[in-house]
Amino acid sequence: MWFFTEEEKDLQRLCRDFAQKELAPFAHKHDEEESFNLTAFKKMGELGVLGITADPQYGGTGMGAVAATIVMEEFGSACAGTTLSYLAHTILCVNNIQNNCSDEQKAKYLPKLISGAHVGCMGMSEPEYGSDAVGIQTKAVQNADGSFLLNGTKMWITNAQYADVAYVYTRTGSERKNLSTFIIEKGTPGFSVGKPIHKMGMRSSPTGELVFQNAKVDSSQLVGHVGESIYHMMKNLDIERITIAGISLGIAQACVDQCVKYAGERKQFGKHIGSFQMIQKMIAEMATETEMMRSFLYTTAKNYDLGVRGAANAAQVKLALPKMATKIALDAIQLHGGYGYSREFPLERMMRDNKLNEIGAGTNEVMIMIIAKNLLKDLKD
Ligand SMILES: Cc1cc2nc3c(=O)[nH]c(=O)nc-3n(C[C@H](O)[C@H](O)[C@H](O)COP(=O)(O)OP(=O)(O)OC[C@H]3O[C@@H](n4cnc5c(N)ncnc54)[C@H](O)[C@@H]3O)c2cc1C
Repeated sequence: MWFFTEEEKDLQRLCRDFAQKELAPFAHKHDEEESFNLTAFKKMGELGVLGITADPQYGGTGMGAVAATIVMEEFGSACAGTTLSYLAHTILCVNNIQNNCSDEQKAKYLPKLISGAHVGCMGMSEPEYGSDAVGIQTKAVQNADGSFLLNGTKMWITNAQYADVAYVYTRTGSERKNLSTFIIEKGTPGFSVGKPIHKMGMRSSPTGELVFQNAKVDSSQLVGHVGESIYHMMKNLDIERITIAGISLGIAQACVDQCVKYAGERKQFGKHIGSFQMIQKMIAEMATETEMMRSFLYTTAKNYDLGVRGAANAAQVKLALPKMATKIALDAIQLHGGYGYSREFPLERMMRDNKLNEIGAGTNEVMIMIIAKNLLKDLKD
């Protein structure tokens, strides 16, 4: 993008190179085996991107949403599953700790999360509360000694099985807004991880449950003050939505690249399929849509960094990009014929992976609700 800084351009080059060396060659294997590329995750620590938005004093890179989106696009084009795990660690866990925790908590948790020594996750969703995130029922009750007792289950948690640190939302009162967050360490008595959840796509990103059964948590693990978390939750959702759309952009670009290549290789009726006008139309349209996605996404990320436009803008980009990328991935499969439908090519994986981006971080329908509410805020009835 024309407004990328020199630092952001360097980051783009670095991440593109890393993605082609450390992610793309292993994406198929991890998808087939439903396994996590922990080796690449650790190397991301060496690369310096695990604390992309965190303060340099804790080892972070101190950059913003544009930079985080660049990483998502580059990594997402190579292996969306590993990138989803990267997002859960960096945006859902590290960025939340950076923005909402005390200096002591940051000093305790951020350096290991940013170096890659520790894996992080974030627990908001529950079996009965997904879109209605503010309704969550995992309870934290304060004991006489100041500690808290946690009971409940978190569902769909990315990185659950690998996480050393979990940033977990709980209910601390009967009103809907009475939410509080705790940093939970692996090994806390009464805290366990449920069995892995098997999925259609994003199979290289581990997903599981966090289970709390009278888990005793010290008051030093509370984030901010009791009842403050609804503000933290809403604030972080914007960057989560922008950056997850970055994975969709990466997928769309990878589909375009693969289609251009195949159109120049595959022959039918004695000609390259790229010489057929219907194939040319498909490629021209998907490349144009990808450019539209790129402009919209990075403008929105820039808006976020500048503190303008707000939640509805993030929701628009989150509604538009994943839907467009699903269409592009399906067109790319069509262009490849039977080979596109086979597991020999990465296109069917990209389509399966991208579908998650229409659900996670808020579904398409929830994005429509947010956008419409903002546009129709003066409606009287
Ligand atoms: C692979 C994966 C990884 C995830 N990672 C995490 C994670 O790390 N941490 C975390 O906390 N969560 C995570 N999630 C959870 C994710 O955020 C939720 O799945 C998502 O918010 C939707 O919630 P739900 O699945 O309960 O669907 P529901 O909320 O039950 O929705 C079901 C359907 O109803 C629609 N719907 C709901 N409410 C309305 C309404 N008011 N109007 C119209 N339609 C409506 C929805 O759009 C959807 O189509 C993950 C999910 C997946 C699948």
